[in-house]
Amino acid sequence: MKKLLPTSTAGSLPKPSWLAQPETLWSPWKLQGSELTDGKHDALRVSLQEQQYAGIDIVSDGEQTRQHFVTTFIEHLNGVDFEKRKTVKIRDRYDASVPTVVGEVSRQKPVFVDDAKLLRQQTKQPIKWALPGPMTMIDTLFDDHYKSREKLAWEFAKILNQEAKELEAAGVDIIQFDEPAFNVFFDEVNDWGIATLERAIEGLKCETAVHICYGYGIKANTDWKKTLGSEWRQYEAVFPKLQQSNIDIISLECHNSHVPMELLELIRGKKVMVGAIDVATESIETPEEVADTLRHALKFVDAENLYPCTNCGMAPLSRSIATAKLRALKAGADIVRNELLS
Ligand SMILES: [Zn+2]
Repeated sequence: MKKLLPTSTAGSLPKPSWLAQPETLWSPWKLQGSELTDGKHDALRVSLQEQQYAGIDIVSDGEQTRQHFVTTFIEHLNGVDFEKRKTVKIRDRYDASVPTVVGEVSRQKPVFVDDAKLLRQQTKQPIKWALPGPMTMIDTLFDDHYKSREKLAWEFAKILNQEAKELEAAGVDIIQFDEPAFNVFFDEVNDWGIATLERAIEGLKCETAVHICYGYGIKANTDWKKTLGSEWRQYEAVFPKLQQSNIDIISLECHNSHVPMELLELIRGKKVMVGAIDVATESIETPEEVADTLRHALKFVDAENLYPCTNCGMAPLSRSIATAKLRALKAGADIVRNELLS
């Protein structure tokens, strides 16, 4: 029988301090050349081991080989000039210096496929691999070529599909697309955002997920959250169409957020990665707090579809805090699983 409430993480985990500056987003690498390549691979092994030690069921690379969840993928594409930078408002929220699309975009070569093979060699557990979603990619760029967000999103979707098919062939069990932009641009999500995501998963036989969150625990995001009022109903705008989509799993922010849990009813039937760990605070959840979030979610998500998870990536946290949070996630899931089975 399949394990009930299998635990996983939304994405990134902290990197070792010998590889990159800790507790920093877009942290520069500390190594170069072949030392950097080896260092990333060593960090991937360490990250896997930390997840296994914490008892996580669906493991990942902890995004150890990438500097940032969007830009590292884009760096491997033709048509994007990283020297030509523009400051744009990303997620309609904060200014960031981003590269410019100067010509037709295409993938030079596989981006993460070798890393995924390395992870596959290290474990027999199910593995999940994260890619940026098309809409979040275009939202992290200045487009001076297509001059249409939608057109560029379709191009990225084709490229993502090539990468996803190779990740699947490398033995990845779940391919996840990170789409924090889905929480901001509702009209576009419904017009073409979900459609481009479905293009990105076309022909895949492995499971697919979309991760929609309120962002890392960085100041621009926590300030934004303060403006959202007491009830966060952003998910409500995109759930009906997502429920109808071909995406298998939806990964969400739940614990400590102001998302009314009953919104999960709108995606009934989908598998749901329920965020039961807050990544925007250094305080460690107790197993009982995790269990409470999961019990609440169980009112709207069938037990066999519930995957306890973190709200978002934990790259900006310290390693000790991130590991403690993973253990709390596991312990909380254990409590609720025992209740379900007793
Ligand atoms: Zn996230």
